[in-house]
Amino acid sequence: MEYVKSKVRDIIDFPQKGIVFKDLTTVFKDPRALHLISWDLAKLYKDKGITKVVGIESRGFIAGSILAFKLDAGFVPVRKPGKLPAETIKASYEKEYGTDTIEIHSDAITEDDVVVIHDDVLATGGTMAAAIELIKSMKPKKIYVNFIIELSMLNGRAALPQDIEVTSLISY
Ligand code: AMP
Repeated sequence: MEYVKSKVRDIIDFPQKGIVFKDLTTVFKDPRALHLISWDLAKLYKDKGITKVVGIESRGFIAGSILAFKLDAGFVPVRKPGKLPAETIKASYEKEYGTDTIEIHSDAITEDDVVVIHDDVLATGGTMAAAIELIKSMKPKKIYVNFIIELSMLNGRAALPQDIEVTSLISY
């Protein structure tokens, strides 16, 4: 992962002052780095019987789709409000300023599914905690959670249910 790590670009004060934004576009545009993360993700989940990969809008769609393809699983998007065309269920969560909401199609996951929810970066964990709440309400057999990058100093894992297996490829 050292090669992939060397391709992550830090953007200071984006999207607001005080945030160091971990930009993965520089990883995705590099063929070797893209190849490495694709294989590493697939290796983590190839024996788990995953039937659906859930990607969180929008940066979770990129590697999430690749992972679904590699696992011969389906891909399901979790999106911001008003973007999904059919019936949805929603979850809201606290952000630093105010609240945010995410949605999933209500028929996207069934009780027969084994799900891995993927996002690019784990920061405070608020977004993923809301996504887990949504998926849990659909009662799949099992839920796994994955990130490419974990910002461990923000302790986002503590915001996630302790009975769920969480993996990340790179930790800062
Ligand atoms: P969280 O605080 O864990 O709910 O993060 C919210 C979302 O913002 C996640 O989907 C991340 O993709 C993104 N995010 C938060 N902090 C960063 C950061 N420092 N660099 C890149 N993405 C971030």
